[in-house]
Amino acid sequence: MAKRPSASLDGICNTILSYYPEAKLDLIRKAHAFAEEAHRGQLRSSGEPYMIHPTEVAQTLAELRLDISSVVTGLLHDTVEDTHATLEQIEKEFGKDIAELVDGVTKLSQITFKTSEEKQAENFRKMILAMAKDIRVILVKLADRLNNMRTLEHLAPHKQKIIAQETLDIYAPIANRLGIGWIKLELEDLCLRYLHPDVYYKLAQKVTKTKREREKYIEVVCDILGEKLKEYDIQAQVSGRAKHFFSVFKKMERRKVDFEQIFDLIAFRIVVDNITECYKSLGVIHATYKPVPGRFKDYIAIPKANGYQSLHTTVIGPSGERIEIQIRTQEMHQIAEGGIAAHWKYKEGKSGQSRENVEWVNRLLEWHKDLSDPNEFLETVKIDLFAEDVFVFTPKGEVKQLPHGATPLDFAYAIHTDVGNKCVGAKVNGKIVPLRHRLKSGDTIEVVTSPSQSPSKDWLKIVRSSRAKAKIRAVIKQQERDRAKEIGVEVLDKAVRPFGLTLSKLEKSGDLQRAIQGLSLRTQDELIIALGYGRLDPEQVIELVIPKEARENKVEAAKAEDESFLKKVFNAARKRSESRNAITVANLDDVLIRFGRCCNPLPGDSIIGFITRGRGVTIHTATCTKALDNDQERRVDVRWNTDKNTFKRHVRIRVLSLDEPGLLALMSQTISACGVNIASANIRTTKDRKAIAVFDVEVGDLTQLHKVTSALEGKKGVLSVERVRS
Ligand code: MN
Repeated sequence: MAKRPSASLDGICNTILSYYPEAKLDLIRKAHAFAEEAHRGQLRSSGEPYMIHPTEVAQTLAELRLDISSVVTGLLHDTVEDTHATLEQIEKEFGKDIAELVDGVTKLSQITFKTSEEKQAENFRKMILAMAKDIRVILVKLADRLNNMRTLEHLAPHKQKIIAQETLDIYAPIANRLGIGWIKLELEDLCLRYLHPDVYYKLAQKVTKTKREREKYIEVVCDILGEKLKEYDIQAQVSGRAKHFFSVFKKMERRKVDFEQIFDLIAFRIVVDNITECYKSLGVIHATYKPVPGRFKDYIAIPKANGYQSLHTTVIGPSGERIEIQIRTQEMHQIAEGGIAAHWKYKEGKSGQSRENVEWVNRLLEWHKDLSDPNEFLETVKIDLFAEDVFVFTPKGEVKQLPHGATPLDFAYAIHTDVGNKCVGAKVNGKIVPLRHRLKSGDTIEVVTSPSQSPSKDWLKIVRSSRAKAKIRAVIKQQERDRAKEIGVEVLDKAVRPFGLTLSKLEKSGDLQRAIQGLSLRTQDELIIALGYGRLDPEQVIELVIPKEARENKVEAAKAEDESFLKKVFNAARKRSESRNAITVANLDDVLIRFGRCCNPLPGDSIIGFITRGRGVTIHTATCTKALDNDQERRVDVRWNTDKNTFKRHVRIRVLSLDEPGLLALMSQTISACGVNIASANIRTTKDRKAIAVFDVEVGDLTQLHKVTSALEGKKGVLSVERVRS
């Protein structure tokens, strides 16, 4: 890493003036003097005067284009912790805003991230709370950590490793989340240097060794790319740079390769004026050089969570090597470098330090309402930062990261599958809560279990995490299989009983094995379960295990014995095959179909199906209220089989008419004339000389029903005709 020129008060002031020309710098100068006085005589581990550190931190904050308060806080951030200066003094000299910021940073600094699990949890909680209170606290802390990492060489090796690991685990991800790309990259590279020095120095050596070659190469490629783009009238700044070591290291780990194999150590960047030119440039590049398949990413159309936008592609370059190219606009570039900080700028003509949040916040504004209050703004930032996750704690203080909206059940499954399966409730921060309670970041959760508990389908509606969902589904599937097995055994036993057989007799004789093979199944379980789910008819098994003549004889003999049962078995089988033919269920062949009694669907009605435990699929009309109560997880796509439809269904229609003689006969004739059978008819008269006739008719589909109803409606004396659903 190149040595940077050391920061100075003048440097800080000049940097601020570059983005905020009207800035009043008195407070900066005052803070510098205050800190210098407080730290007088103190030295850093490097032996340099301590004041170099806060000055560097303030310089970084100015480079992030933050407000005066943030830069002042950078200068003062170590005074309360390391010197005799007090918060009261700071508040008196610099105001409440800055005192609170310094307090926030001081508290964050007291956090150590490596002790017991309990401490770690507490630390993380503080971190989140500090961030939630004022995002600037974290920005100051990041600048502080950056300077500490830059000067880490002066510490003892074991301390280096601890600090580097903590930085990699906590600060680099936060920088990334805040979209401050350069801090994230620099932190990661510094971490690599102390955590994997072998890799770091090999890469550094390789990059240095080929420095001249590389620079020449970058120059040549930039020229070629620039020329190409110019041919298409695209004004672009093209630049190339060695990739960050940490990204090379991660790539090596990911692809399990040594870096000798990684020839693409250089990345190119094209910065253009607008989005159209981004895509245009991409077209030019892809037309000129062959793109590597699967490497194109459109982060313009779909920005990263931190707001990052660019087009990424890899092509086979001018001399046959792979080159990575990022294409973005100037604005996207600033955001990629500065993240949140890039959106904080000074409003011209205002003397105060009002922040104007530009596009990033405008995007937030689309989701939320007008944010004029800075507190609301910070709240929004907080929501955006942690929208995806909640961080909660075990009673021992271990952190669990769960998706937003997670419940105690998610937490229980995060602990262990058995804990999840037996969970009946939880204590959140000591208070009993129900299973559907939504967890918040910082909650401490104690799961309450019961040995008699077992997961239910409703749990799928309660949980948010994919882990919990998968575990619950697995248990339910097993429960259903067990249940189907029980039913299957029962069904088969009943079906073969008239022949003097039982399941175990069939097993012993080997007949069952024959049936399994005959049905192209693999195991006995499969057969039993298919029977239980209604996918298989007991009749099909009987056909295979009992000789034809025995079957015919026995049917006669059995009739006397248990006529009603056999009739039921065969009638049910017939009905099943009829209804099976009437409906096609997506992805399921040969499944038992039943129709909801509530809505009595008719071919032509729009329908939905629900898988029912042990009873195949139940069909409802799409508008049936009872269907909407069903568990939507069980829903399957179904449609009418118009060509195979041979069965008739009973539909009830109610006709309101004037009470005139002969009208019932006329109605009956009308219905029969449509080729429709009347199963029953009922009529009653009302006090106001009207008649209500109710017919149960057998129709094949909706068209036929409509034919009947419109024919009836056309008759003189008929007032209204309606289909009745119970
Ligand atoms: Mn510090």
